[in-house]
Amino acid sequence: MSEMKSSMPEFWKRCNICKKEIPFNETYYVCSVSTCRNKVTGFVFCSTICWDGHLGFAHHRSSYCEEMTAPSA
Ligand SMILES: [Zn+2]
Ligand SMILES: [Zn+2]
Repeated sequence: MSEMKSSMPEFWKRCNICKKEIPFNETYYVCSVSTCRNKVTGFVFCSTICWDGHLGFAHHRSSYCEEMTAPSA
């Protein structure tokens, strides 16, 4: 049995709300508000439901979620 010791992460990022793993090449969602999607904040969501949950904290006046695809590993 060979030991697989990889330093590569097995997923791209975690959902900001539920902490679910967002795999590479998978669809994820971002908030349309620029402060939520800049490099420092970098909110990503696994589903529109989690993005919706984010609205409960963010109190945006108007926003929508954008579908994105995670980069490959
Ligand atoms: Zn989530
Ligand atoms: Zn937002």
